[in-house]
Amino acid sequence: MRWLDTPIDILTDKQRLASPSLWWDGLSRPEPEPPLETAITADYAIVGGGYTGLWTAYFLKKKLPDADVVLIEAQNIGHGASGRNGGWLMGTLEGLSAFTDTNGKLPAAARAQLNTLVSRAEQVLIEEGIECDFHHGGCVLAAARHSSQVIRAQETLAHFQRLGFTDDDYHWLTPEELTARVKVANPGGAVFTPHVARVQPAKLVIGLAHVVKSLGVRIFEHTRASNIAPGFFDCDRGTVNAEHIVIATEGYSEAGSPLHRRVIPVQTGMVVTEPLSDIRWSEIGFHDNETFADFNRAATYLQRTADHRLVIGARGNYLPGGRPKHTLGDTAFIGQYRQQIALDLFPQLESVGFTHNWGGSVGVPRNWHPHVIYDRFSKMGTAGGYIGEGVGASFLFGETLAGLLTGESSELGEMPWVQRRALGELRRWEPEPFPQLGFKATTLAFGAEEWLLNRYGESLAARAVGWLCDQLDPI
Ligand SMILES: Cc1cc2nc3c(=O)[nH]c(=O)nc-3n(C[C@H](O)[C@H](O)[C@H](O)COP(=O)(O)OP(=O)(O)OC[C@H]3O[C@@H](n4cnc5c(N)ncnc54)[C@H](O)[C@@H]3O)c2cc1C
Repeated sequence: MRWLDTPIDILTDKQRLASPSLWWDGLSRPEPEPPLETAITADYAIVGGGYTGLWTAYFLKKKLPDADVVLIEAQNIGHGASGRNGGWLMGTLEGLSAFTDTNGKLPAAARAQLNTLVSRAEQVLIEEGIECDFHHGGCVLAAARHSSQVIRAQETLAHFQRLGFTDDDYHWLTPEELTARVKVANPGGAVFTPHVARVQPAKLVIGLAHVVKSLGVRIFEHTRASNIAPGFFDCDRGTVNAEHIVIATEGYSEAGSPLHRRVIPVQTGMVVTEPLSDIRWSEIGFHDNETFADFNRAATYLQRTADHRLVIGARGNYLPGGRPKHTLGDTAFIGQYRQQIALDLFPQLESVGFTHNWGGSVGVPRNWHPHVIYDRFSKMGTAGGYIGEGVGASFLFGETLAGLLTGESSELGEMPWVQRRALGELRRWEPEPFPQLGFKATTLAFGAEEWLLNRYGESLAARAVGWLCDQLDPI
């Protein structure tokens, strides 16, 4: 299985020494936090050092400055998806249909929370001095290759309208308006939303950890929590007693985390071009640093970085046994697949070099929508199940969870994604290999549709497979 384990072979000798991830390449990491080597007590203990754990710690200390909060991370801060992602800070959640009221609309208060999320996050980043290349340029979701994508784009817009969002939130761009923003090979129109910002993910996670530490949170790295029970858990060389416990392990939930097999890891990742010249950018657009996706089934996500590279993200694979992806570098096969997506969208990139290729795991819950869960009896909570849309959501969910943990009564605690029940009630995935077979079948159907479209255009066969894909991956 070459494509599972072979590192990509597109780097120059100099770059080979660098990180496979652009985000960590040349970034000076802070001194590592010590591992936990004793028995400690705390008011609040958080397991997982990604955005969810860190935002929860941040808002806890903002609400209760004197509270004793500890954060335990199995590897290093940002080891999981938070240090690897595509840097779309989005004012939306995956699976919004699950949160509608009896009229099929998302409650107005929930829409307001989502629509203001990006600006509220920006405000906190400014207040706390977290420099992470934040740019609020919105997002273009484009029909950019086959005409069937136009229908999917229009259905997506109709979906947001049915949920109650207005034209200010999601509106249509004609092919000409799309081209004025991003010059794809085959513009068919697009949905534009202002509710997305670009960030540099590793700078965000490091900056946030720095702020959280300066607020007095005790952080322990290279410390794996296990046997997590109400009020107590073990670590490799220590123990933690805490009245309240938060599980923030998301797509990296393995044996020892109560979320193991309830939130499973699915891979995605990205490739990056070398820095592009102004002339090249005038050929492809992104003048307002918009984030960009097309309606490819590969679930693409692109951003223009602060150092003028194009980052192209797309779906990855499913590791045997449902394991999370701990290594950073991705395989040559996957890297070339993502490069091909970039070239199909932007033939202008033909002679451009690609410098990095990496991936990571997103967390997928069995019911396919994210959650904030708090159980006031066991005093345990969690947030996640983001299905690859957690950069912005973790800010919202971290604040929500902190409110629930401190017993605060607020609008956030009444949002439809909040569940007051035991973590153990979160549905388990079927045993392996069933999830793996399901993901493989879905990937095969997506590949077959792509192949048919490329070879025969919008044929009957492509439409039939497209229908099947729609059932597997509904809007
Ligand atoms: C390649 C990629 C691209 C993505 N792009 C985007 C994007 O553009 N926009 C977006 O919104 N979302 C994106 N996502 C998803 C987003 O990054 C995640 O939803 C978000 O980072 C989840 O944060 P988290 O803190 O919940 O989990 P994570 O960041 O995964 O953190 C979980 C942490 O828990 C630790 N841990 C696990 N078990 C234990 C244990 N037993 N003890 C102690 N620590 C433990 C892990 O080491 C890990 O550091 C992407 C994800 C990936 C992988």
